[in-house]
Amino acid sequence: MDKCSLCGRKESEVGMLFSGVSGFICDECIEKGHLILMEEKKSSENFSVGDVKLLKPKQIKDFIDQYVIGQEHAKKVLSVAVYNHYKRISQPITDDDIEIEKSNIIMVGETGTGKTLLAKTIAKMLHVPFAIVDATVLTEAGYVGEDIESLLVRLLQDADYDVKAAERGIVFIDEIDKIARKGDNPSITRDVSGEGVQQGLLKLLEGSVVNVPPQGGRKHPEQKMIAVDTKNILFVCGGAFDGIEKHIAKRLNTQIIGYGKQKKEERINKENLLQYIVQDDIRKFGLIPEIVGRLPVLTHLNPLDRDALKRILTEPKNSIVKQYQKLFKMDKIKLEFTDDALDYIVDQAISFKLGARGLRSICESIMLEAMFDMPTGSAKDFKVDKKYAEAKLDKNSVVKFKNVG
Ligand code: ADP
Repeated sequence: MDKCSLCGRKESEVGMLFSGVSGFICDECIEKGHLILMEEKKSSENFSVGDVKLLKPKQIKDFIDQYVIGQEHAKKVLSVAVYNHYKRISQPITDDDIEIEKSNIIMVGETGTGKTLLAKTIAKMLHVPFAIVDATVLTEAGYVGEDIESLLVRLLQDADYDVKAAERGIVFIDEIDKIARKGDNPSITRDVSGEGVQQGLLKLLEGSVVNVPPQGGRKHPEQKMIAVDTKNILFVCGGAFDGIEKHIAKRLNTQIIGYGKQKKEERINKENLLQYIVQDDIRKFGLIPEIVGRLPVLTHLNPLDRDALKRILTEPKNSIVKQYQKLFKMDKIKLEFTDDALDYIVDQAISFKLGARGLRSICESIMLEAMFDMPTGSAKDFKVDKKYAEAKLDKNSVVKFKNVG
């Protein structure tokens, strides 16, 4: 009796049986095979760099949307930059002489608006090694503080010392504005934390082979250095650039002079000048032109308004509210926050000028007693309303949160 050589079913059990040179295949096996092939084809249409499967910019943004609220412009800019960066890494060597240049990124925005979160989310999506480093700890080699190379130590650690993996990773350099030159004239004072550090950083941003002490610091002079090529490492820099608005405003004002009455759509929104930022403003702020040139992708983050803060509490995939709910669920307690409780928490974060960073600590203060008592209690439901939140965020907390941030 003829039967399918793949699934073994007889001719009578299938719709149609096709015969080949040395066997048979049924219609269902053909269909299944076709589906598998289509799936394969679909996934291979996304770029693949090493084991990084690269999504298209829209898909990258969709992913970021799950974690980061608002900041539409920054998300779009980052999605495209990341896509291009990994496309660049994956490009085969061609003879057309077109070399795609590295697209390091700089994000400007107040603290607590999501710069670190954006960089972190992208690293999470790409499954590449990721390190957050703070530019304020850097000093020129030979001075107290950390050498520029230390930026790569954390990346190596995150990659479990797999150098190849680290060389495709992402480094987020926070507070890049703190290494800006103070004042317009670079030679006024010897500026240890400024220009020298910037020169060192330039080397990393451009792409060069750097010797990294695997354990960091200078305490282990005997340690064997690890050579890391930074050519394909994506550097994302972030900073608040306090006061940069004045450079932006000045530039915008000089541009406007002589053009008569502005059209309505050209009117400047003075509330949010950051949206008009260009590379030159960063240079005027005190980053050397070479560094600015090596950070070609520039974007800004908007201040978070009341509505955004409320959404941050509840919407992201790992929002604060969802985290508390999960914790309580482990004790079989259903936790709920009323709308007015959420509004209250947001109001407090705003009045203490804590922004998104404050939401968590305010919630911790409100939730502490419940988290202490309820696991041993009998209640199976718990509702946090405004009255409860107010009572828990007592006078002590009000004093505690004052001037934080
Ligand atoms: P920045 O790097 O701009 O100073 P962070 O990314 O560290 O700010 O943000 C601090 C915290 O605030 C984050 O861990 C996150 O919980 C929350 N947060 C800030 N901005 C957003 C946002 N746009 N969407 C969701 N959460 C946010």
